[in-house]
Amino acid sequence: MRWAWKLGTVAGIEVRLHATFLLLLLWVGGLSYSKDHSPTAAAIAIAFILAVFGTVVMHELGHALTARRFGVRTLGITLLPIGGVAQLDRVPTKPREELLVALAGPAVNLLLAFGILGGLSLLAAPLDLRDPIPSLSAFLWRLAIVNVGLAVFNLLPAFPMDGGRALRAILSTRMDRVSATRIAARMGQGMALLFAAAGLLGNPFLVFIGLFVWISAGEEAQATRLQALLDGVPVSEAMVTTFHTLAPEASLGMARELLFHSFQRNFPVGREGDCLGLLTHEGLLKALAHHPEASPVTTAMESDFGLSSPTEPLATALGRLPQAPGRMLVVREGPLVVGLLTAENVGEMFLARDLAPGPFWRPHEPP
Ligand SMILES: [Zn+2]
Repeated sequence: MRWAWKLGTVAGIEVRLHATFLLLLLWVGGLSYSKDHSPTAAAIAIAFILAVFGTVVMHELGHALTARRFGVRTLGITLLPIGGVAQLDRVPTKPREELLVALAGPAVNLLLAFGILGGLSLLAAPLDLRDPIPSLSAFLWRLAIVNVGLAVFNLLPAFPMDGGRALRAILSTRMDRVSATRIAARMGQGMALLFAAAGLLGNPFLVFIGLFVWISAGEEAQATRLQALLDGVPVSEAMVTTFHTLAPEASLGMARELLFHSFQRNFPVGREGDCLGLLTHEGLLKALAHHPEASPVTTAMESDFGLSSPTEPLATALGRLPQAPGRMLVVREGPLVVGLLTAENVGEMFLARDLAPGPFWRPHEPP
């Protein structure tokens, strides 16, 4: 995520702070100062927000550490003004695991709230919540209430918030995942409208949260649909099997002719079906600007190119495609090049499947 600074690492998970978070601190501090004209009250208001976000980090760690128990890594936790986001490297697909990961966050907030309230009841300190400079016990009491609020709010069935994820996990035990996600996402978007409507009556934050929930519910439903389409499809179904290969002694001029007179953009370089490197469209044009046309293509080829195999799941191969030279993977079986994989081919395959479902492959049916 851009505009995020690394704060530190907790349990091996990087915690980052988004730049817009500082705006929230300024806003809260300014609001408090304009009300009471007390720098101490403003500092305490800011300290309170920091304490709340400390508990948000613990909420996200609840998700991340539970996910780790099921073998799911967390890439990092980012704090945004509207809350925290734990970026899991994949969503746990077993309903029971997804349910536990979703509930772990709100459970942390409830534990914190009960812990604080239990501690305060032992101290039996007097509370005066109207005082602009609250006592430590009033500060902690408010923090406990906010944690109860966080747990309840996150448990609303507004997918992709925790309650919505829990709902999808429960629905997934009765139907396929795509339908479960669709129902959860629809409910999420319904909740998003309610948030926005409630926000317009008073709290502008709710409008932001409504917008965030609306957009991410739609995105996630789409991603799940795509994942289900790709499930069980190997690379061999989507690769191009008719393509030109350049011999290592071919010249840059010959490669240019081939580029102009075919649809192919990138060319494997090799002999008898093997592959020494990949001459990308970009690499060829750059080389022609600096080298004579008669230079061999080996001067311009990438020897470190993206590789795949016919049996690799298409979903994993697609994950490497954006970073691969020429945005293409060379599909090899042993030493032999048997195909090329580009995003366009995958798009064509889906189009073809939509127009003539059946002979290509059937969508994966969950067991
Ligand atoms: Zn959560």
